[in-house]
Amino acid sequence: MEIVSVPGAGWCMLCAETVPMQELYGACPKCGSHQVQATGGTEMRVKEIEIE
Ligand SMILES: [Zn+2]
Repeated sequence: MEIVSVPGAGWCMLCAETVPMQELYGACPKCGSHQVQATGGTEMRVKEIEIE
């Protein structure tokens, strides 16, 4: 079973754009807001659950 450690990207509500994410549920690297929804990482985690 593969482990995904880096989400990679998230959607910042304040910046209204996709930003690179250092960690899941981390802060936006541009504005520092925590109102960021992980996108790529979430999709990958869902795939893991489906496989299992
Ligand atoms: Zn932001």
